[in-house]
Amino acid sequence: MTDANCIFCRIATGDIPCAKIYEDDNVLAFLDLAPVHPGHTLVIPKDHYKDMLEVPAELGTAVFAALQKVAGAVMKATSAQGFNVMQNNGLAAGQTMFHIHWHIIPRFDDDGLEMWAQGKYPDAAAMQEMAASVASYL
Ligand code: 5GP
Ligand code: ZN
Repeated sequence: MTDANCIFCRIATGDIPCAKIYEDDNVLAFLDLAPVHPGHTLVIPKDHYKDMLEVPAELGTAVFAALQKVAGAVMKATSAQGFNVMQNNGLAAGQTMFHIHWHIIPRFDDDGLEMWAQGKYPDAAAMQEMAASVASYL
């Protein structure tokens, strides 16, 4: 299941080169060409799925195993003190490559990067209402 118009599919098939770190039957890990920090790595399934809502849950085991293995290696290679695993879904969330991928971003004490600001619910009832609304769609 590859999409000839998808750059990440073409990377997975070897049609477009990448700085490969790891591959197995299901997943491929390679360096992001525009790293937040050097060592910033992308993990993708070799098959084409757009996002988290499309990817089969069964692939999760292979992806999780690759994330663990590769993140540990990135930490060692970069002497990072931490790392973020990020995964964007949809334009509104910052997704630019519509072949699902997980970012492994090495992080350093005082590297100055900040996550987004967090807010709060008006009260506990509003929070419970939101939880019930989401749960009603499961
Ligand atoms: P997104 O914003 O969709 O979560 O992340 C897409 C990522 O893919 C970006 O960080 C971008 O730098 C990276 N990227 C885009 N095109 C290529 C490419 O051709 N090769 C590699 N290695 N990374 C890419
Ligand atoms: Zn693809």
